Amino acid sequence: MKVNSPLQIYKYLPQTNCGECGEATCMAFASHLLDRSKKVADCPPLLDDKYKKKYLELSELLAPEIREVIAGVGETAVKIGGDDVLYRHQLTFFNPTVLAYDVTDTMSEEELVDRVKRISGFKKFYVGSFLKLNMVAVRSTSNDPERFKRAVKKVSETTTLPLILCSFNPDVLAAGLEVSADKKPILYAATKENWQQVSELALKERTPVVLFSPGDLDELKTLAVSFREMGIEDLILDPGTYPRGEQLKTTFQNFLKIRRAGIKEGQKDIAYPLMATPITAWMVNEDPIRASYWETVLASVFTVRYGDVMIMHSIEPYALIPEVLIRETIYTDPRTPVRVDPGVYEVGNPTKDSPVIVTTNFALTYYTVESDLSSNDIDCYLATVDTDGIGVEASVAGGQLTAAKIKETFDNAGFDFKEKTSHNTVILPGLAARLQGDVEDVTGLNVKIGPPDSGRIPGWMETNWPPK
Ligand code: SF4
Repeated sequence: MKVNSPLQIYKYLPQTNCGECGEATCMAFASHLLDRSKKVADCPPLLDDKYKKKYLELSELLAPEIREVIAGVGETAVKIGGDDVLYRHQLTFFNPTVLAYDVTDTMSEEELVDRVKRISGFKKFYVGSFLKLNMVAVRSTSNDPERFKRAVKKVSETTTLPLILCSFNPDVLAAGLEVSADKKPILYAATKENWQQVSELALKERTPVVLFSPGDLDELKTLAVSFREMGIEDLILDPGTYPRGEQLKTTFQNFLKIRRAGIKEGQKDIAYPLMATPITAWMVNEDPIRASYWETVLASVFTVRYGDVMIMHSIEPYALIPEVLIRETIYTDPRTPVRVDPGVYEVGNPTKDSPVIVTTNFALTYYTVESDLSSNDIDCYLATVDTDGIGVEASVAGGQLTAAKIKETFDNAGFDFKEKTSHNTVILPGLAARLQGDVEDVTGLNVKIGPPDSGRIPGWMETNWPPK
């Protein structure tokens, strides 16, 4: 993106404040274009012929530095790449790393279907939403076009997740495309040996394609230029993922070099999303636990530096959970604290004798406390104070968690202690102990100080509840 303020964008807009985009003013719309929560085409007047020049110029200015490639169709389609910065704190990373897990065409049908169901059915609840896997990579280990076609067809029938068709044999890729082109799969991969046949397939079916040139960045760039000259823009670059030793160090440096060239040096020829293949850990580790461990290590490394899509093998929870969690951490937007709506929530089935516990609306804090309470069968009311999504200790220090805010939370929720409880008591987090006197004065409630972390609430309850 070549603009960094709404004012720079504003001059390309019609400036009529007509409201057709759903915003009150063109300036407000410009702010949304800048943070990518709206698209240029969301301004209908700009699509008029008289604004065509400005529309094209603005689209060019707002295009991400790294091309965004879309694979799949419908709700499970994935966006790959599309970043503008080298470091998350400079803005944010936009499209989370797409995680693909492999199946092969030499699996039995039963094994294939079972594995695909496990990949598409995986979900892990974290901070208010489910973390999921994104793609199925169908690898041809038979090198037999007919067999590959059958496997791709079966996978397509079993899942709505988008596919990566994996083979260096263009005939095999063509057979897979015959039964999946309408799902817009990714072709993996074009190399210096097969690029002409693979480019014909990509051109014919308009599918994204991965260019693979292990360890040779000049060759990778040459391939990218050739494909672009043929009009194929939906490219993903795979510079090879060596799983250990000096070559792993070189792999990491290659990822940095390509991304720097794309963003800092503006080299459009190489400004494409990157594919990492942590699955290569299985080529050098015989023990499956060890292979899985190193695969997850590689996945973590390339989630942080700059793998936009990855192919992996292990679908054991001990591999998947760290992989989806580190992705979530890296791709959380640093401009927006993750928060839940303030209010007074019921945990379990609280009665008049149940405790009333205060926490903040920082999502990680809220869900941790809620999980500690519900998993220990503690029925209670959980009051979530609007601290702008900041945790307890920082919000006490910063003045976002105050006695007045706590009172306001109960008032706004219509929570009347006399009616709802038999004890007129509220429990503050241990890290907010210094607010005790203020809360007593402002609310007129009895205030008890809970433990400093919610994991200790069950033990604390044994000696402190009910209040004497
Ligand atoms: S639709 Fe376009 S012209 Fe109308 S307010 Fe929005 S940005 Fe401005």
